Amino acid sequence: MQNKIALEEHFATEESLGDSALFAPEADWPELRSRLLDIHEKRLREMDKHGIELMLLSLNAPAVQAIMDPADASDTARRANDFLAEQIARRPTRFQGLAAIAMQNPDGAAQEARRCVLELGFRGVLVNGFSDTADSAKPLYYDAPAFRLFWAELERLDVPFYLHPRNPRPQDAGIYEGHPWLLGPTWAFGQETAVHALRLMGTGLFDEHPRLQIILGHMGEGLPYSLWRIDNRNKWMSRQNQYQAKRKIADYFRENFHITTSGNFRTQTLIDAMLEIGADRILFSADWPFENIDHAADWFDNASISEGDRQKIGYGNARKLFKLDSNTKLNSRQRSGDSNQYGRNDHDRCCDRRS
Ligand code: MN
Repeated sequence: MQNKIALEEHFATEESLGDSALFAPEADWPELRSRLLDIHEKRLREMDKHGIELMLLSLNAPAVQAIMDPADASDTARRANDFLAEQIARRPTRFQGLAAIAMQNPDGAAQEARRCVLELGFRGVLVNGFSDTADSAKPLYYDAPAFRLFWAELERLDVPFYLHPRNPRPQDAGIYEGHPWLLGPTWAFGQETAVHALRLMGTGLFDEHPRLQIILGHMGEGLPYSLWRIDNRNKWMSRQNQYQAKRKIADYFRENFHITTSGNFRTQTLIDAMLEIGADRILFSADWPFENIDHAADWFDNASISEGDRQKIGYGNARKLFKLDSNTKLNSRQRSGDSNQYGRNDHDRCCDRRS
């Protein structure tokens, strides 16, 4: 399938690169390292080969979220975003951006989101789970009241927030002690991110900001499979879930969330997600460079779903969510002074195809 759009696709700067070393065996690090630092070479060849028209790029994890000093975190985010904007300007029809945001400083986070969307033309933000602070007792989860101004700003900007995984802090990861294989993508990423998403829903964030859209990777971090149980525990008992939010968790999940196929290339799982939240809220992604583009694309292109759903999930939903519906719009949000042309070259040819 041509024209796919992929949106959980990462790069690293020299500064953030080290954060990914732990996620590859030593033997594979040279390959992962070169994939993370590359944008316009192997990445683009893989995109061309496997029918990916556009990638929305984001910084690797945990990067900004793991920097304890808020000023340092903000500076790092800003440098990474400026670097990404330069890369996008070289090929705006092939790459767009999701901003790195230092949530350690909620007001600064809102400002940087605004700068990235309005000045750099980014399509949303991607945050790697909770943020560290100097107070080791207090990781920051974004259901806290301090973040309400940030969420209000994001709703005004009308761009989605990708809640990307990170591992729990060692002091919160007792259950994984002696079982390090369960950390990272195997299990801990999904558990950590799903609980964070449930906190956002339960706190009433989406009653206050009903237009907010959160994206979860990895087919929803297990949540679609558990939605019914979350809302229907011990149904005969007099007391049900007690939280501040007004509605059922499933209502928010179906109206304020989108999920991607990143790193979870399984038709059975996709179909469960489609039955729970519908094909309109599922978007193709690979999770390059941690997962292979051919693994994602070969699976998705041949998955037993209807062609209509494949088009929605492959690119239609992303075009709507990120307002990518025409090249004119793609271009109009580029920073003024950057190239107004598409910078077409041999790599840009696939943008003209429609399947
Ligand atoms: Mn990822």
